[in-house]
Amino acid sequence: MRLILLGAPGAGKGTQAAFITGKFGIPQISTGDMLRAAVNAGTPLGLKAKKFMDAGALVPDEVIIGLVKERIKQPDAAKGFLFDGFPRTIPQADALGAMLEQKGLKLDAVVEITANADTLVSRVAKRAQETGGARADDTAEVIRKRLEVYRELTEPLVSYYRGKGLLKTVDGMAPVEEVTADIRRALGA
Ligand code: ADP
Repeated sequence: MRLILLGAPGAGKGTQAAFITGKFGIPQISTGDMLRAAVNAGTPLGLKAKKFMDAGALVPDEVIIGLVKERIKQPDAAKGFLFDGFPRTIPQADALGAMLEQKGLKLDAVVEITANADTLVSRVAKRAQETGGARADDTAEVIRKRLEVYRELTEPLVSYYRGKGLLKTVDGMAPVEEVTADIRRALGA
């Protein structure tokens, strides 16, 4: 299974990613997690990415594309993968398409989790409180910025993948178990 999980910050991608990867025995590839690891390790990539992340802006496409290109070469990705937080722009989606095509591979589905804007803000703010602000980008101002960036740069991917016949949309406002059940049905699992 080669899947993409699409949704705004707070839509519940992390929770559902855990279910999907367990169900299909595939690794979760979260570019956000990879970037945070690089920031914590103080690598050159991390140093470069940090200022974008702290501002709620996107890390430049070429940086992300390079990161993903290396990641999908790892042996665990041979059985498939679930992308979480990638692609986030049309150029990233085009680059992914080219990477897969070169390997003779195809995406199976893109699962979009929807939620309304107010819910998204309050969910992320609550997470920030619960984790004691562990993430530098979980402040009210940066959360709003991340949502704005999502709407402007990432949401166009919904029609991009709908056009390719890959889009499965589930309602992220439903209780967690229902969202999981909807995803399972959407993926025919
Ligand atoms: P969220 O909780 O907002 O979905 P992530 O953990 O996926 O956030 O990402 C955190 C930050 O890392 C983003 O705000 C952005 O700065 C950077 N980032 C993660 N993935 C990408 C990507 N595919 N393209 C550009 N920037 C990214």
